[in-house]
Amino acid sequence: MAQCKRCNSDDVVKRGFVRHKQRYQCKEYDYHFVSGDGRVKASLPVKKALVVILYSLGKASFGMLGKLFDRSRSLTYRWIVAHGELLPGWSAIAMLQPSAGSMIK
Ligand SMILES: [Zn+2]
Repeated sequence: MAQCKRCNSDDVVKRGFVRHKQRYQCKEYDYHFVSGDGRVKASLPVKKALVVILYSLGKASFGMLGKLFDRSRSLTYRWIVAHGELLPGWSAIAMLQPSAGSMIK
């Protein structure tokens, strides 16, 4: 069950939906809130960018990047794939089977 964002109380009840998300009401202070409002820490985009840069330098593995940023190796992989998909003509299969001829033109 949800916890109150203001006082961490478990005494919350569901109170309908706002912007397609469950809205809750804290019974202690009559405070309304929405779970998972989509906010992310400001450092996250910086971490993602650093992972992509270090990987693109060619000396960092997914596991090593995961240890460096205290995340799982699969998450660093997904960050890199998500960035790669923004590039034109990019494919995950080509990334996993690198050949010098196709990457350097
Ligand atoms: Zn509360």
